[in-house]
Amino acid sequence: MHDVVIIGSGPAGLTAAIYAARANLNPLVFTGMERGGQVTLTSDLENYPGFPEGLGGFDMYQRFEQQAMRFGAEMIYEVVTKVELQGDSKNVYTASETYSSKTVIIATGSTPRRLGVSGEDRLIGKGVSYCATCDGFFFTGKHVAVIGGGNSALDEGLFLTRYADKVTIIHRRDRLRADAILQERAKKNKKVHFLFDTIVEEIIGEESLNHLRLKNLKTEAVDSFQVDGVFIFIGHKPNTDLFVGQIDLDAGNYIVTDRRMHTNQSGVFACGDVQDAIYRQAVTAAGTGCIAAIEAEKYIAEHEGRAYPESRK
Ligand code: NAP
Repeated sequence: MHDVVIIGSGPAGLTAAIYAARANLNPLVFTGMERGGQVTLTSDLENYPGFPEGLGGFDMYQRFEQQAMRFGAEMIYEVVTKVELQGDSKNVYTASETYSSKTVIIATGSTPRRLGVSGEDRLIGKGVSYCATCDGFFFTGKHVAVIGGGNSALDEGLFLTRYADKVTIIHRRDRLRADAILQERAKKNKKVHFLFDTIVEEIIGEESLNHLRLKNLKTEAVDSFQVDGVFIFIGHKPNTDLFVGQIDLDAGNYIVTDRRMHTNQSGVFACGDVQDAIYRQAVTAAGTGCIAAIEAEKYIAEHEGRAYPESRK
């Protein structure tokens, strides 16, 4: 029986691993297919405190992992296929084995919805981005397109006007979904332009993004549209399929936690983007990972009569 199993290897999961390992709980970390999570999509992370020169997303993942392993975390480079979270002994399955644990920390993150058009995957980090906070700075003085018509598209589009000279919001319908106040703000901003009834058919470029092939759904006209960057904000999908029916999810399928990262299932904690539809930053994910690990440690101590600092109860 393990003390702590952590599912996910982004900043939330690996920070939980560092704290759990330092508490001598020998955590097992299941990395999943996308080791390091969404942070590895960012070519240069410039807003993580402590790295004034910035840091590559994959480099950051490797540093987190090294730090966790240094204190005794065990990495398992496999995908979790099934979980049983009820009771005092939780079971976590991979294709080849079953692991039992007193606690489970879920840090499976979320996935930005992709357009699914040709060129999108190949040009991620080379003009295609899903994070304005991470990548906006690289488009200072440039023209960027934002895809989507919801709150994220308008919010992030407005944020991008801090850097870009021109932001064109491309939306598939003739009406925005975003809140009225954001629509008003965007329409007032001289840097913001709109293309309605328009979809992206292809993202084109060799080494980096050169232009988009757009189609107007009303006229069927196809055009090439020159931009330096494209930011895609068509929603996020929390990675919670494994947990449906076992823990409480909200209307957007995010895991419901209290401020101590407890889920409704005792001994099961969640941290990072899988329970956060708002901030979605590496540093906030790391913070909640820390809380989840401390709470797991406390849970085990309470259940087994182990010593635990009064001040943290
Ligand atoms: P969202 O509200 O689901 O909006 C997604 C947008 O992407 C919609 O305009 C949708 O078009 C479009 N879209 C979806 N699939 C597409 C595709 N395949 N091709 C082209 N366009 C596509 O998602 P969100 O904007 O990320 O917001 C998620 C949640 O967070 C919402 O509850 C939102 O209110 C909240 N949020 C709030 C704030 C804020 O209050 N400041 C900021 C950000 C997010 P259609 O409109 O045609 O469906």
